[in-house]
Formats: sequence, C-alpha cells, structure tokens
Amino acid sequence: MERLQKVMARAGVASRRQCEALIQAGLVKVNGQVVTELGVKVDPAKDRIDVRGKRIEAEKKRTFLFYKPKNVITSMADPRGRRVVADYFREIPERVYPVGRLDYDTEGLLLLTNDGDLANRLAHPRYEVDKVYVATVRGKPDPASLERLEKGVKLEDGWTAPARVRLLQAGEKRSKIELIIHEGRNRQVRRMCEAVGHPVLHLIRTRLAFLTLDGIKPGGYRELTPGEIQRLK
Ligand code: URA
Repeated sequence: MERLQKVMARAGVASRRQCEALIQAGLVKVNGQVVTELGVKVDPAKDRIDVRGKRIEAEKKRTFLFYKPKNVITSMADPRGRRVVADYFREIPERVYPVGRLDYDTEGLLLLTNDGDLANRLAHPRYEVDKVYVATVRGKPDPASLERLEKGVKLEDGWTAPARVRLLQAGEKRSKIELIIHEGRNRQVRRMCEAVGHPVLHLIRTRLAFLTLDGIKPGGYRELTPGEIQRLK
C-alpha cells in the first residue's frame, strides 16, 4: 500500500504537491469515494483512482525472476541498513514486491511482482507450486532420514507435508539433497534437515514451478514473458 499522492504522481497526473492539492480540493476518488485527507493509502494494482472524473492509468503489471544472492534480506527496506532485494530494483518505476521469502543466508530464485493475484496464487500451498531446493547438509543422511523428510517431519509448528527428496551427492562430512516442497513456512528446509540430524550448511532455491535460474547470475534478474505468466496463472 502506498500514499495516494505518490501513486498519482507516478502515474503522471502532476507533481506530488499538486496531487495533494487535487486531493484536498475533493477532485480525487478512490473506488468511487471522494477522498480529501492526505493520509490515505492505496494499492496501485487494485484500487480504482479517478482524478477529475477520469480514471488514471493502472500501474503496469510486471513480474521479475531474480537470483537473490546470499546476505540479502527479502524485504523492501531494512532499518539496520543491510542490503535488501528492493536495492536491485531501484530503476524499475513500478513497486514490485517479493513473492514469499528466502532467508538472509539462502540464495536462489525469487519472484518479484506488483500483480497481487499472481502473488497470492503462487504463495498458496493449495496450488502446489513446486519449490525446489538444493541443500548442502552436514553428514551423510541414511535412507531412514531421507524417508522421514519425504513423509513429513514434526516441527514446532506442526508436521510438514510430504516432500520429494533425492540424495544428489553423499559424503561423510557433507552431502547434497534436493527437496521439492509446496509449503513455505519460515526456515522450513533448514528446520526439516535439522530435525533429521543434518543441519544445512548452504541452501539454494533452484526452481519455482517451471522457472529456473538458467542464464542468470547472482544479483541478476529478467522479466517474465507473457507466456510464462500465463503458465503460472
Ligand atoms: N527454507 C528455508 O529454510 N529457507 C529458505 O530461505 C527457504 C526455504
């Protein structure tokens, strides 16, 4: 949600100051209601805004596939001044938001969008969107541990749903496993692996639905094509 005058100014109505004057003069409607206060916040992707009886252009819907590097916060701002994903999207005029989150120390595929419907759809476990992670874990998980991960493990916030799990590399000190899950609980993969005795040393999300990181470097991004967006919906 953003301040009405800011959204109006970005849509090219007038300067922010002039937009404030238009609001105070009773010339602006949000979803059919005249708004005269300046504190009002709107969702530019959803709310209808009319200025002097004319609807202003809704924000263009944009969706980006981002390769989040490690040590970046999945957030729009950080009070402690650490690097956030929004820092990579400063030149994009639309306000795009992360879909779900990756931990500070997790790298990999993160979508950012201003399309609220798409974001909700992707975030909801009901739609069973594959989230594919490769975890480097301490030790060598035995078949019983892998089976536990697959069937579901008990975490503080309840049992995890069944997952698909594959041992990619086995070593006495460290191993690599691929996990495909549909949920997105806080630090879920880390907690699942920890629960079966194999703490995560490194974690990367390599795929979301049919989207992969192919051709993108850490810190890089690309806009999804209309065809890809169609496939996600
Ligand atoms: N699971 C985790 O533990 N961390 C992430 O960042 C994503 C999934």
